[in-house]
Amino acid sequence: MNKPLIVQKFGGTSVGSIERIHVVAEHIIKAKENGNQVVVVVSAMSGETNRLLDLAYQIDKVPAARELDVLLSAGEQVSMALLAMTLNKLGYPSRSLTGAQANIITDAQHNDATIQHIDTQVIREILAADEIAIVAGFQGINEFGDITTLGRGGSDTSAVTLAGALQAEECQIYTDVDGIYTCDPRVVTCAVKLPVIDFPSMEEMARKGAKVLHLPSVQYAWKHNVPLRVLSTFNTNEGSLVKGHKSHQSVCGLAIQRDMYLIEFEAEHRQKLIDQCHMLGITIWSESEQNNVITVVIKQDAFAKLSLVVSDEFPIQRSKVSLLTAVGSGAPDLQQHACHSLRDEGIEVVDITLTSQSMMLVLLPECVDKAANILHDAYITIKNALDYQHEHLLFN
Ligand code: ADP
Ligand code: ASP
Ligand code: MG
Repeated sequence: MNKPLIVQKFGGTSVGSIERIHVVAEHIIKAKENGNQVVVVVSAMSGETNRLLDLAYQIDKVPAARELDVLLSAGEQVSMALLAMTLNKLGYPSRSLTGAQANIITDAQHNDATIQHIDTQVIREILAADEIAIVAGFQGINEFGDITTLGRGGSDTSAVTLAGALQAEECQIYTDVDGIYTCDPRVVTCAVKLPVIDFPSMEEMARKGAKVLHLPSVQYAWKHNVPLRVLSTFNTNEGSLVKGHKSHQSVCGLAIQRDMYLIEFEAEHRQKLIDQCHMLGITIWSESEQNNVITVVIKQDAFAKLSLVVSDEFPIQRSKVSLLTAVGSGAPDLQQHACHSLRDEGIEVVDITLTSQSMMLVLLPECVDKAANILHDAYITIKNALDYQHEHLLFN
């Protein structure tokens, strides 16, 4: 009988030094000793992708997208080789593969590619030889034979898609926190770990900036029923499972997205700007209009590309902002209360966008952490306490 197959992904902090790569190797060895076939996906060592990006920006603010992918994919290639060397040295035969060697075929959208297909034959051969397959995350190859990358945080998507293609028992995302919390636990220290979070809630959290999982990884796992778990490389705590197709919480969490620009321009140029964003693949996070002035929020790193094509044609004002989003079907109803609570604490809400599953606030960057704590206290900590009291009264 075939041994169970699991995919384990280790993020940048987890492979951030040779000592940490040893810790990662211990996890992999344990899974193998427990009778599993193991496929590993690695990110670049922490800080490495940013270092490479910075080198590119010293040459060109908008580097050629193809060359940027060649450059950035090198980060993962370093960690996969170091991990394979470590495992081989410890007596566990391992082979590392780039995205191209692992036959991860993507579309041609450099810097933000989508995986279209994985031919798993090479990986299966490695497993059949009782070796450990180590695959570079975040990268693939397009039909022209060019290296592509999947967007920042994309190694999660490599792992989940591999798990789907290999019909793995589980995809385990090892990272530097021990699960999925109601908000980034580095910002809201009283955030609560969710033992289970449903796919729609997790998708919305990831879409709005909760970078613990890359958005396409959640979407793929949801569509293809890949069991997906997030857990820590550095402790043995339980972790979180993403499971279930229905959201039950009225507010399940808060997501923060930093490094955004709010740009303003005259309404007559709206169509031109929207068309350009569309052509360049730039996501518009929010849009509003007042007194013939359009306000749009985009990522800061997208602005350089955009200004290259439109800034000579009409003036654009820009200012740095961050986004704070409450996720859940009850979130849109909180608009008035949230705005009042924040204003009472001296926090200006620059703009607000509602969807059926979220309330997204545009805030000044220096206010976002305080605002997250205020809203978390109001809608999650206190609400949970009340729910607990309610259950307690009912059942005792
Ligand atoms: P990796 O390099 O392992 O992929 P990331 O930095 O991409 O790690 O993602 C993990 C980080 O996500 C955590 O360190 C945490 O600060 C952040 N994060 C944001 N939102 C959440 C959340 N809701 N739950 C847990 N972590 C979160
Ligand atoms: N190394 C890439 C990044 O920093 C991909 C990843 O870590 O998932 O975005
Ligand atoms: Mg990540």
